Amino acid sequence: MRSRGVAILGSTGSIGTTALRVLERQRDRFHVAALTAFSNGALLAEQATRFAPGYVGLVQNGGGEHPGWGMGTACLIDAAVLDEVDIVLNAVVGAAGLDATLAALERGKRVALANKESLVMGGALVADAARRGGGELVPVDSEHSAILQCIAGRPSSEVRRLVITASGGPFRRWSAAQLENATLADALQHPTWRMGRKITVDSATLANKALEVIEAHFLFGLPYDRIEVVVHPQSVVHSFVEFVDGSVLAQLGVPSMELPVLYALSYPDRLPDTGVPPFDPVELSPLTFEKVRLREFPALELGMQAGRLGGSAPAVFNAANEQAVAYFLEGTIRFGDIPRAIESALDRLGDAPSGTRDAILAADGSARRHVQELFRC
Ligand code: NAD
Ligand code: MG
Repeated sequence: MRSRGVAILGSTGSIGTTALRVLERQRDRFHVAALTAFSNGALLAEQATRFAPGYVGLVQNGGGEHPGWGMGTACLIDAAVLDEVDIVLNAVVGAAGLDATLAALERGKRVALANKESLVMGGALVADAARRGGGELVPVDSEHSAILQCIAGRPSSEVRRLVITASGGPFRRWSAAQLENATLADALQHPTWRMGRKITVDSATLANKALEVIEAHFLFGLPYDRIEVVVHPQSVVHSFVEFVDGSVLAQLGVPSMELPVLYALSYPDRLPDTGVPPFDPVELSPLTFEKVRLREFPALELGMQAGRLGGSAPAVFNAANEQAVAYFLEGTIRFGDIPRAIESALDRLGDAPSGTRDAILAADGSARRHVQELFRC
């Protein structure tokens, strides 16, 4: 079998470094054709030495000398459209990933999508780009990888309901009053996953689950009233699919992103791999499930409302959340301000125009400015 070329956008991050661990073991099937990062030139240089990609790109050069590297935001697209790239693993965080997702799909590439934000903000655009260019979107998010594995090619008319699992994050049992002033250190203590800071905060507010519900809507073509969320603190059942005959399938595995990353590369095939610890149901038990507490975690309901509204509302939700989380990470606002910022942006801008890339980016920009003005930062 021909070795497939993989571009990793965001190779220095949590998903990016996870993917390189997987690719290190799968050198017979895949080779690293391109690597990009935002500003960590030292780690990127180390990765480039180890994997010898044909293309290396750094968005912001902090001063190091890197002859031959691509520079600036254009390097994401430059890497994504290279002829020797078959699969683009988009592991960039946030709206910055949108153009690379679109460009790769338009060039007929497989996009292994960790960057859920690009699908949430540009759902219809992303589908159009794939249709036009013959590209293919395969999810890396563990829940969506689970759903894809359970659906296994059956048409959406045979699916009654998706049930997406949520760990509940570090604040699963906290009261609304406690949540209001939860600190950054508290929010960064995720019980089951080690991830980048933005998604870790999203997992604490449950905005991440809202992004995932919208992501599932676009990936699997189901209306929002057939997508539900259940809390599952152990993160072993990665999601459920209920079929029209009442049968329910789930995909299980130890909480490691190596499994969904490998599956997004090999889909629909499965490759022998022994990277993660063996599955031991006794060791992992008990597996428990709880109702999600929507009142305490308003970001989830707000995101689902934005999804149902459609148009540019998901882009407004995403951008307001990104801006608010950035402020929370720098210590400017309180944890409880994050959902308030989202609600305010959706109230003001939820019906902004959509349909084109420019309209979506305008909605994204307006939502960010709205949150900036809200806190006058
Ligand atoms: P991270 O912060 O650890 O890594 C982000 C990567 O993107 C880094 O390599 C960084 O250099 C690059 N980057 C950041 N901003 C950029 C910009 N403006 N332009 C270009 N590159 C930029 O984040 P992560 O946890 O790896 O998450 C990446 C994506 O994967 C997110 O969309 C997240 O929601 C999704 N995801 C992550 C996990 C996980 O376990 N970490 C699980 C599911 C989905
Ligand atoms: Mg997930």
